[in-house]
Amino acid sequence: MTTQKSVGAASPTYDVIIAGAGPVGLFLACELRLADVSVLMLEQSADPSSPLKRLPFGMRGLTIPTMEAFYRRGLLDDIVKDNPASIKSLGLQPGKQAGHFAGITFSYSDFDSSKWEYRLPNPADTNIAAELERVEKTLAERALAVGVEIRRGVTVSGFSRSDDDMVTVDTIAKSEEEEFRGKWLVGCDGGRSTIRKVGGFEFVGTEPEFTGYSAKVELAADSEPLPPGKNNTSRGMYSLAPSGQLVMADFDGGAHHREEVTLEHLQSVLRRISGINATLATVHVATTWTDRSAQATTYRKGSVFLAGDAAHIHSPLGGQGLNLGIGDAMNLGWKLAATIHGRAPGGLLDTYTTERHPIGQRVLDWSRAQVAVMRPGQASRALEAIFRDIMQTRDGATYFAERVLGVSLRYDLGSGHPLVGRSAPDFELMREGGGMTVGKLLELGMGLLVDFDSRRELQQLFPKRWTNGIEYLAGEPKERLGLSVLLIRPDGIVAWVCEGQLDIDEFLTAARCWFGAENWIVSRQKEA
Ligand SMILES: Cc1cc2nc3c(=O)[nH]c(=O)nc-3n(C[C@H](O)[C@H](O)[C@H](O)COP(=O)(O)OP(=O)(O)OC[C@H]3O[C@@H](n4cnc5c(N)ncnc54)[C@H](O)[C@@H]3O)c2cc1C
Repeated sequence: MTTQKSVGAASPTYDVIIAGAGPVGLFLACELRLADVSVLMLEQSADPSSPLKRLPFGMRGLTIPTMEAFYRRGLLDDIVKDNPASIKSLGLQPGKQAGHFAGITFSYSDFDSSKWEYRLPNPADTNIAAELERVEKTLAERALAVGVEIRRGVTVSGFSRSDDDMVTVDTIAKSEEEEFRGKWLVGCDGGRSTIRKVGGFEFVGTEPEFTGYSAKVELAADSEPLPPGKNNTSRGMYSLAPSGQLVMADFDGGAHHREEVTLEHLQSVLRRISGINATLATVHVATTWTDRSAQATTYRKGSVFLAGDAAHIHSPLGGQGLNLGIGDAMNLGWKLAATIHGRAPGGLLDTYTTERHPIGQRVLDWSRAQVAVMRPGQASRALEAIFRDIMQTRDGATYFAERVLGVSLRYDLGSGHPLVGRSAPDFELMREGGGMTVGKLLELGMGLLVDFDSRRELQQLFPKRWTNGIEYLAGEPKERLGLSVLLIRPDGIVAWVCEGQLDIDEFLTAARCWFGAENWIVSRQKEA
């Protein structure tokens, strides 16, 4: 094959090049554009649509941190709107299934959300099921609207760093090679990430125990019937929904992953696992997956980052991968933008790995624990019975809900106050003509200093409403949860709180730690 190489000397240099326009890459691109950073996305698929991104296989559970991320960027309505899978009216749904652990389900009425003392009701305060294709479409529309350049049908084949601290990205599209230059490169190119491999990122984890199958099938009229619900057997697990959705876990060490899935193969696996002489008439679509789990030991090497599945892979059990990736993007976007604009405090970019790696590790272990419960054999059935008992207690269900819904997420920011490192409650500041919520205020992508007691010392520090990358807001909240002042990062994470006596030095230390130099005035400030 002959290829033509066009060297991108004449092409523009981008602040950031993102490999992969999946949900994580697209959301990150929106985050960077929000902060006036130029972004080029390179995506290998010419067509973003695929049957595997549509229902039933394309169903993705979105947890509360993801819902909050979309809410805080004004995307939530579009994600929910016209989404065939999503729950139309938000708000916790008593009696409905809220989640599961290894297939053991719990409902919204099983757990006690009043224990989550620093949460306030808000439009994003529930998990939903959403169709992946719709989520990607919404994010792509936003990305294009804010000026992200997306090139589809372009495969990233490698990259190199040049002496002038730039990254040159090698691509191939329709047999033509082309190079693109950027200051920073982020690999959002999925589980088999080229950026991770070429960049020499160490990727460590555990090998698969099973091949998972998701298929849409029809049983033959004369087939032996299968029992409803999830069934664990001595060979694995299977469930066949009335809609024809078949899910199986065949504990074969992941041997059949990425092999062709014929009707005959699917039927023989189903018969082997179930021990029932089931006959399939039709297989409409089928895909495989495994419980292989692995994580990059660092998410950054110099000017190259990993985010989403490129940084961590695990089984889809309990559906956390997309949520983990959106969390990566929300965490990285504002830090990288602040660095590009030259206003980041020292070490800010390294906090991307130190904050996100432990969260990823927790999710990987959560999925591994489910595999231990799902394994065929007596020991796992005994474990399953114990987990079921625990989940039937209120405290047990509350623990599982915290993990599955994502409300237990907390970064270790080194402060003792329970709210620091957690998602900010959606305080509503009372205003004439209607309140202003923290979620809406975060849409500009700035940090927030929310002062419920209109303190003079703080007002003096903020001669303008936007100072040092922080928007200052004073006002009485509808509910204050015992707090007086909060410093909130652009990703909605609480960086500092004051409950009563204000220690201005303590505030300045926190502000410098996350927002850098005191006298810096945001260039893109938009006066009210
Ligand atoms: C059956 C199943 C069910 C799941 N359910 C859930 C769930 O309920 N909740 C949840 O949170 N997660 C779930 N997940 C996981 C979730 O889908 C992934 O974690 C998520 O899609 C990862 O997003 P990403 O953008 O990091 O990667 P991807 O979605 O894999 O996107 C990567 C993009 O990069 C492109 N690309 C790859 N290589 C290159 C290259 N060399 N050059 C250019 N482009 C490239 C790809 O074409 C793709 O568009 C599930 C996964 C499966 C398989």
